[in-house]
Amino acid sequence: MGDLNLCVIRGDGVGAEVIPAAVRVLKRVLPSLNTIDADAGWNCFTRTGSALPDETVNRITECGAALFGATSSPSKKVAGYSSPIIGMRKRFDLYANLRPVLSLPSYNTTIQDALVNLLLVRENTQGLYAQREYMRGDEAIAERVITAAASARVGKIALQLAQSRQKILAIVHKANILPLTDGTFRDAIRAEARNFPAVEIRELLIDTAALQIATKPQSFDVIVTTNLFGDILSDLASMHCGGMGVAPSLNMGASVAIAEPVHGSAPDIAGRGIANPCGAILSAALLCRHHWNLRDAADLIERACFAALASIRTVDLGGAASTEQMTEAVLAHC
Ligand code: ATP
Repeated sequence: MGDLNLCVIRGDGVGAEVIPAAVRVLKRVLPSLNTIDADAGWNCFTRTGSALPDETVNRITECGAALFGATSSPSKKVAGYSSPIIGMRKRFDLYANLRPVLSLPSYNTTIQDALVNLLLVRENTQGLYAQREYMRGDEAIAERVITAAASARVGKIALQLAQSRQKILAIVHKANILPLTDGTFRDAIRAEARNFPAVEIRELLIDTAALQIATKPQSFDVIVTTNLFGDILSDLASMHCGGMGVAPSLNMGASVAIAEPVHGSAPDIAGRGIANPCGAILSAALLCRHHWNLRDAADLIERACFAALASIRTVDLGGAASTEQMTEAVLAHC
């Protein structure tokens, strides 16, 4: 095993609380890990004039891996500001976003049957996140860009993952209304699937998929979908794993990977020491599993997190534990 280097970017709000917790767990499991801090986000923008300084980009490039907290992006256009996570996805061509959902024992009371264990793979560079927005007269227009090449490469990752799991891939789209864009997405993945004959391909329209994720989540193995649909479906699916505080994600490219909890900066609870660190800790596990190929470390972190959650819970999960107490409980199982 060569040197492991990680760029740590806390970002805004609860990012500053949950990312140090995840770093503590990573360092416990991987004592030789080198970390270097870097800055990005809204606070960074107000201080330096850049939400994603060149120095941060350089540090991520040097490390090849980053753990990112969250950023408080304003919902109105602010001159000179653009979302750093979207900037990082573009800059490092992080074309696939992995969002696993594993149901938390005894948490979910609405889904009675089997455990939920689905993996959502979101295309991460195109769609409405291409951010091609402009005005034409009184029309506000957003271009939704989809290419066959980008669809095929995210499809390939989803197919590889499906092949290593239950061998079922659901392609989620809206090609009945958007035959050019979503038709391109679906057809490119179907073409790629010819190289994976063992994987069963299913197709679902986005609205049907949303209903089934809410009502029959255990029927899914791997889901692949376009950028905005993936963003929305993963928040919905997180209801089965305990909500936003527990949901992890990994942005993957050819050489760089950036792990980040699915949640945002959570300004309503930031600074109170009550944020759930599990989404960040489980994101670190994804980095171990899918980027560093350290499966034992990933298994250990995931098992420790779930073991801790069996006895102690943060406020978002109906418990009273602080971020610090939750982190200590995970560390005790590492
Ligand atoms: P942003 O615009 O940065 O995404 P937001 O408030 O719209 O911010 P989130 O930050 O994801 O979205 O928060 C959504 C809800 O989930 C909030 O009620 C927040 O308190 C809760 N939440 C998010 N992260 C956590 C966490 N780590 N622990 C506990 N609750 C959380």
